[in-house]
Amino acid sequence: MLYLTNIGLEVHAQLQTASKIFCSCSTAFGAPPNTQVCEVCLGYPGALPVLNRTAVELAARAALVLGCTVHPVSLFARKHYFYPDLPKGYQITQHAQPLATDGTVTLTSPQGGRQIRVARVHMEEDAGKSLHDEGPFTGIDFNRSGVPLIEIVTAPDIDSAEAAAACFSRIRDLLVAVGVTDGNMEQGSLRCDANVSVRLSRDAPLGVKTETKNINSFRYVQRALQFEIDRQVDLLSSGRPVEQETRLWDSAAGRTVSMRGKEEAHDYRYLPEPDLQPLHVSAALLDGLRRTMPELPDETRARLIAAYGLPPYDAGVLTQSHALTRYFEAVASSSGNPKAASNWIMVEVLGRLNAAGDDITMIRVTPEALASLIRLVDSGTITGPTAKQLFERLFVEGGSPEAIVAAEGLGRVGDDVAIAALVQETLAANAKPVEQYRAGKKQTFGFLVGQVMKASGGKADPEKVAMHLRRALE
Ligand code: ZN
Ligand code: MN
Repeated sequence: MLYLTNIGLEVHAQLQTASKIFCSCSTAFGAPPNTQVCEVCLGYPGALPVLNRTAVELAARAALVLGCTVHPVSLFARKHYFYPDLPKGYQITQHAQPLATDGTVTLTSPQGGRQIRVARVHMEEDAGKSLHDEGPFTGIDFNRSGVPLIEIVTAPDIDSAEAAAACFSRIRDLLVAVGVTDGNMEQGSLRCDANVSVRLSRDAPLGVKTETKNINSFRYVQRALQFEIDRQVDLLSSGRPVEQETRLWDSAAGRTVSMRGKEEAHDYRYLPEPDLQPLHVSAALLDGLRRTMPELPDETRARLIAAYGLPPYDAGVLTQSHALTRYFEAVASSSGNPKAASNWIMVEVLGRLNAAGDDITMIRVTPEALASLIRLVDSGTITGPTAKQLFERLFVEGGSPEAIVAAEGLGRVGDDVAIAALVQETLAANAKPVEQYRAGKKQTFGFLVGQVMKASGGKADPEKVAMHLRRALE
């Protein structure tokens, strides 16, 4: 039987603030354990939380970019549960009246656009972190305790593991584009939990759902959810029920495993937070946020196509990150050749960076250097093969292409006497292909051109090489 899938995502994103949500402790990543803590984020009795204004602005910005209605008044609540990394015994979050509701995420695919509803966006604090590799003990690091988060909850509108991965990455791109979060999953600033259920028809009520947690890397979202879908379908197909529970993704084993029976909302004993005032977000604040909203990825893509005449494919690649777009625009405007800039970046730059596991912010080839490389080719000063060699060198050492070309005589060899001499040398060294060519095997011509180019170190003018070669052979 064919089952239909329903997936809803719960995305937690760390807001890019310097200090925590209810105290002035630093949020910097990587400090020694328990060096960024105080009475408030350690949950001392009587310590009072003070809401971070920047966190509210970032949360509201996220809600706007997800198309949500930001409510003029929202409330904080205490969500009770016991866990060693939660010293107060409750998490301050938003429950009955969240910051924002009713947004959409649009997924684009070759089959067309699809809308995933965003049920809500609320603010909350992060918990600490248990460290299980401290010998026979478990340590707790409270540096994360009180780090500001937003939780984004989608409706169960997603119908496949693949679409879930696309939705998650779309949410990340939007949040990163407007500067709400750095989107770094390795450092825990972006996390994705997913509610998965399956059912036999669109008219049937939603099936029993499980919540899959701990999907801590982008490449696992699709695999983890596909595993969970297949597991549920297997159970139901053999007449066994799906238990409502929380499951953990075990990336080493490539499967989800049962963690605990799922709590209902009433298990958390949500109560209004008495130490915080209702949160008021003014129309003036929202107007200000709308006015200063950075360009979104779709807008950037459209602008690159219109302003530089790039094919949509190029524009898609070049808008993978703000930094990459900035790099492209610098190379395009300084070289005066946007299509060449795009080609160099898509092929050589991204090829080399991906191989090295680096991103564009780490590149040693400055936009000015790549632009002058392109100008050197366009002006006929160097050949294409020389440009590729030069790029390799710039990638490793940095530096200025003009200076290297001048210092090492890499300029294109267009001198007829020199090329004719190279042709003669090449013919003498390749008696067999020459014989084949003269016997009518014309394909060997390309091979011989290649040999002359090689003998010149890639510097000979390829058109002149072909002309001299033809003359010598016939
Ligand atoms: Zn603190
Ligand atoms: Mn949460």
